[in-house]
Amino acid sequence: MPRQAPSKEKLSEIIEKIPTPFHLYDAQGIRENVRALRSAFSWNKGFREYFAVKATPTPAILRLLRDEGCGMDCASFAELKMAELCGLTGEHIMFSSNVTPASEYRLARELGAIINLDDISHVEFLRESAGIPEQICLRYNPGGEFKLGNSVMGSPGEAKFGMTREQLDDAVKQLMQLGVKRFGLHAFLASNTTEDSYYPTIARVLFHAARELHESHGADIFMINLSGGIGIPYLPDARAADVAWIGSAVRDAYDEILTPAGMEDVRIAAELGRYITGSYGWLIATAIHKKDIYRKYVGLDACAANLMRPAMYGAYHHITIAGKGNAPLDHIYDITGSLCENNDKFAVDRALPEIEIGDIVVIHDTGAHGHSMGYNYNGKLRSAEVLLEADGSYKMIRRAETIEDYFATIRDF
Ligand SMILES: *Cc1c(COP(=O)(O)O)cnc(C)c1O
Repeated sequence: MPRQAPSKEKLSEIIEKIPTPFHLYDAQGIRENVRALRSAFSWNKGFREYFAVKATPTPAILRLLRDEGCGMDCASFAELKMAELCGLTGEHIMFSSNVTPASEYRLARELGAIINLDDISHVEFLRESAGIPEQICLRYNPGGEFKLGNSVMGSPGEAKFGMTREQLDDAVKQLMQLGVKRFGLHAFLASNTTEDSYYPTIARVLFHAARELHESHGADIFMINLSGGIGIPYLPDARAADVAWIGSAVRDAYDEILTPAGMEDVRIAAELGRYITGSYGWLIATAIHKKDIYRKYVGLDACAANLMRPAMYGAYHHITIAGKGNAPLDHIYDITGSLCENNDKFAVDRALPEIEIGDIVVIHDTGAHGHSMGYNYNGKLRSAEVLLEADGSYKMIRRAETIEDYFATIRDF
């Protein structure tokens, strides 16, 4: 079930100061969510969540997460810089990139980040471009299909990420010769899953591989990184992941596979993005037009440039109308943006209360991979971001783009 949005009164109060559209985040909700995750893994002494910066690359949110003990997972030069600006360095940064330019490896090394090598060929590339650190992480791709019980959750064999099992052996041997002292192991095999068995299953895959690398090469394993992928309940009848259960099931796997091998000081890491902030953000928009042709349309002042997931993946985002929570859902609408693209629809055939022009339309679960996927097609400008505290105070943490921003990069008028 998607989380309830702030009241119509609160939204109207904010809109008086900050015009729609904007993304609104619930600071206390995010904090409590991180605390629940940390508590689920408190059995593991070194547990750390490296928030996936790409999900919500906004410093006010990142600093809030840092203050809750999170590190950051970066995949580009800008994301590394953002982590640095938020006061993080060294082991508090994971650099999980792919097709990595030399300049990014150099910055990651300068910051002392934990580099997650995506490919065997990057052993040599990293050595030449930035030098080999004493501590490094390897990204594993077990290939084939990734199943939970009988259902296929993903197809690692089709994915461009990570190295094969044989390449892991090779990488460990080469890197030990080049002076690496400690290894981490990482994999990301399914996205946006609320199956609680996902983390325990990927943990078993990684624990077995880590144990083998330890036993056959004497590799010292310091970290297993379960990466991202825990989903959120976008649909009204979906359930939220049970992190307390997930934490204890990962512990069972740890006790069964790593502890008997004398590997009980391996720390668990996560790189969750969506799970941390996804449910705690809403895109707040205003209905500005209604149109009645072969279907009934309600047009918003927001468009896919503010939230791309419905257009890109056909993703469901729950929609409510502020102040109409108890009204009957007796109208069927397509809720659209203004792009010259027919896929610019936040919802198709959605049952909603009657919408009037001027109504505040709330699009739920936009706290991760929402604003950050924004773009400027049709010259549409990206919206502001606003952080709401539990006491009702709020702060604009990113202003909306202006026309000057849009024209700023042009050099030949
Ligand atoms: C995108 C990504 C994540 C975060 O994924 P979520 O689905 O937001 O949990 C974590 N690690 C890596 C390497 C990623 O590419």
